[in-house]
Amino acid sequence: MKVGVFFHRVFKESWPVIGDKFRRFPEVMQEALASPKVELIEPKPVSEALLRKVHSESLLESVKRMYVWDAARLAVGGCVQAAEMCWRGHLARALVFTVAAGHHAGVSYAWGGTYLSCTGPAIANLREKFGRVRAAILDTDSHHGDGCREIFTGDRDVLHVCFCSSSRVEDAGTKICVDVGWKTTDQEYLTLVEDCFIRAAREFKPDIILHFHGHDTCIGDYGDRGLTPNLQVELVKLVRDLADEVCDGRYVVLTGGGARADIAELIYPRAIEVLSA
Ligand SMILES: [Zn+2]
Ligand SMILES: [Zn+2]
Repeated sequence: MKVGVFFHRVFKESWPVIGDKFRRFPEVMQEALASPKVELIEPKPVSEALLRKVHSESLLESVKRMYVWDAARLAVGGCVQAAEMCWRGHLARALVFTVAAGHHAGVSYAWGGTYLSCTGPAIANLREKFGRVRAAILDTDSHHGDGCREIFTGDRDVLHVCFCSSSRVEDAGTKICVDVGWKTTDQEYLTLVEDCFIRAAREFKPDIILHFHGHDTCIGDYGDRGLTPNLQVELVKLVRDLADEVCDGRYVVLTGGGARADIAELIYPRAIEVLSA
C-alpha cells in the first residue's frame, strides 16, 4: 500500500494567514514523491451535502461568497478522500495539504484562515459509509482548535487532544487541552505528546488518527513556541508508530498553520519519507 499525498496546484497561490508558503510545492517534494511507495493525488472538492452535515447553512452561504470557497472545498475534499482511502485499505497513510480549511471552523462560525472544517466532514463521511467510527484527532498547531472542539463536543467517539495555551479535560476525558507554555523545547513538547496524547489514544483505541499538524509553533513562525522543524518530523514518526500499534496504521496528517515557506519545504518532504518508511 502506498502513502497518498494530496495536493492541488491552486494551493500554490496566496491564502489567508499561511500566505503562499506552498508556492514551490509539489516541486520541492520531487525526491520524496519519486518513491514507488508514494502517490501524488489531486483532491476533488468536498460535496456541499457533506459540508451540510457539519456546518450551518448560514456559514456555508457566507463562505461561498469568499474567494477561498473553491480552494477550501478542495482541501476538505482531500481530507475526506484520504480518510476514506486509508479506511478501505487503499492507502497506508496520507499527507493532506490544506489551505483555508481547518481547526478554527466550527458549526456556524469560522476564522483564523480556516473557513471549513476538515475533520468534521472526513469523520461524517466515514460514518455515513461504514457506521460507527472512533477517531482520535491530534492538534499540534500552536493555537487552540476551537472550531474542531465545538463540532465534536458531546461526541465521545471522538478523542480530541489539542496542544495550546490552556489545560483542561472535558467530555468524559475525550476532549483534552494541554498548555505547552509560551516557550518550550522539542524534548519537553515530545514528552507532553507522549504523556497526554499517546497515552490517551492507547486507552481510547481509535479506528483512525487525524493529525492537524501546524508548524506555526516553529522558531520564527507566527505562533512561535520555540520548536524546531525537526520536532515536526519527529511528531509524525511518533504518531505513525502509534497508529501502527492502535489502529492498523490508519493515519492522516493535515497541514495546518504556519506561514514560513522554508519550514514547510523542510518538513513536508521529510514527513513523506517518514510516512512511507
Ligand atoms: Zn495556529
Ligand atoms: Zn486547545
